[in-house]
Amino acid sequence: MTYETVIGLEVHAELSTKTKIFCDCTTEFGGEVNTHCCPICTGMPGVLPMLNKKVVDYAIKAGLATNCEITQYGKQDRKNYFYPDLPKAYQISQYDLPVCKNGYVDIEVNGEKKRIGITRIHIEEDAGKLIHDEWGTGSLVDYNRCGVPLIEIVTEPDMRNPEEARALLETLKSILQYIDVSDCKMQEGSLRCDINLSVRPFGQKEFGTRTEMKNVNSFRAAVRAMEFETKRQIELVESGGVVEQETRRWDDAKAVSYAMRSKEEAHDYRYFPDPDLVPIVISDEWIEEVRKTIPELPNAKRVRYVEQYGLPQYDAEIITSSRTLAQFFEECVDHGANPKTVSNWLMGDLMRMLKDRNIEPEEIPFPAQHMSKLIALIEKGTISGSAAKKVLDAMFDEAKDPEVIVKEKGLVQISDESALVEMVQKVLDDNPQSVADYKAGKEKAIGFLVGQTMKASRGKANPQVINKILKELLDA
Ligand code: ADP
Ligand code: MG
Ligand code: ZN
Repeated sequence: MTYETVIGLEVHAELSTKTKIFCDCTTEFGGEVNTHCCPICTGMPGVLPMLNKKVVDYAIKAGLATNCEITQYGKQDRKNYFYPDLPKAYQISQYDLPVCKNGYVDIEVNGEKKRIGITRIHIEEDAGKLIHDEWGTGSLVDYNRCGVPLIEIVTEPDMRNPEEARALLETLKSILQYIDVSDCKMQEGSLRCDINLSVRPFGQKEFGTRTEMKNVNSFRAAVRAMEFETKRQIELVESGGVVEQETRRWDDAKAVSYAMRSKEEAHDYRYFPDPDLVPIVISDEWIEEVRKTIPELPNAKRVRYVEQYGLPQYDAEIITSSRTLAQFFEECVDHGANPKTVSNWLMGDLMRMLKDRNIEPEEIPFPAQHMSKLIALIEKGTISGSAAKKVLDAMFDEAKDPEVIVKEKGLVQISDESALVEMVQKVLDDNPQSVADYKAGKEKAIGFLVGQTMKASRGKANPQVINKILKELLDA
């Protein structure tokens, strides 16, 4: 029997507001333990939370960018459970009246478009962090993260394989970064997801029983977790078993998931409206104000890059995946560089150098103008393509104009024929065998001779000029 996988995601994104959701404490990541907190976010008795308006702004923004309806009369609810990282013993979340509902985002997998429903987006507060003592004598708790605002985005069970789920995660991440509501740094826990997954025989209408996997903290881990869970459920069903509705924890190091709690142990959160907080009333004007702050989104940008700049679909997709990279690209083009040439540099050497240095496009230390200047230096023949790579590398380490780097490092390309003829002649004299090969009709021998001359010039000779001189001398 063949099976179909059904996946729905719950994505948590930490909002990039300066202060927390119910107090004025900073949301900054890290910091000395228990220094970013106050009586409100540590849940002392008798304190009053007050909702940070920016949190609602950001939630509305996320809702509009994902085609949701905005709930104009909403509320916040207490979700009751005890855990040491949750000092109030309840989390303030939203139960039945989330800020946004009934939206969608479009994803693309292998050139095929698909629309994924967004069930809801609600606001809530983050919990603290437990630090387990490495000597096993106890656990410590850091409340710095308590009360950092989150949005939770819940999707419909519309995805049918891990690739679609990954595309959805990437699309959501890029949208949230474009609208500037979250930095989405997975390594700092700013973006986290729970995976709901079930299987059913192909053609069956009803969904199978799902499990929920927590603790997935990279896109790669998410894909691995989904592949593992699909296989586990199919094998279970095939061998006559039944899938239990349960919460499982993914252990990426061991590449297995294991049961955390079953449905019977599932929490009854006893949700009720938080009596300390007033309803959230969102006027038409407020929604329109927020709408005005939404920039061109990645999908629209991609279409425009193909039409306006003639970029291949593939290039447009990669470059628009990051708002910063897209902006960098447009600035280079505005400074006169050829769009496809810029795109090649960005997708190739620039991306590789970012990866080598483990930095994000946001951290590129030089302006786009320097990139377009570098491209102009190659096009004018001042430097060779391989020298340009050295210059680009240096641009990451020293904040200097590429022209200055070229001069300092003596990378100016030698294109002057008279300066190169002698060098080429010497290479011919030193390599009689290759010369004979060429004369006997082995055209390939010329490549070796070009290489030898490049080497003799320590990479500075213009290869096209060498080629020309070689041909002239050999055919003479
Ligand atoms: P809970 O509050 O228990 O997490 P929800 O109704 O909010 O339950 O659903 C959570 C997620 O589970 C949603 O993303 C939804 O798309 C997904 N989901 C629901 N049923 C299934 C199913 N049978 N298979 C896979 N995913 C499912
Ligand atoms: Mg859930
Ligand atoms: Zn506080």
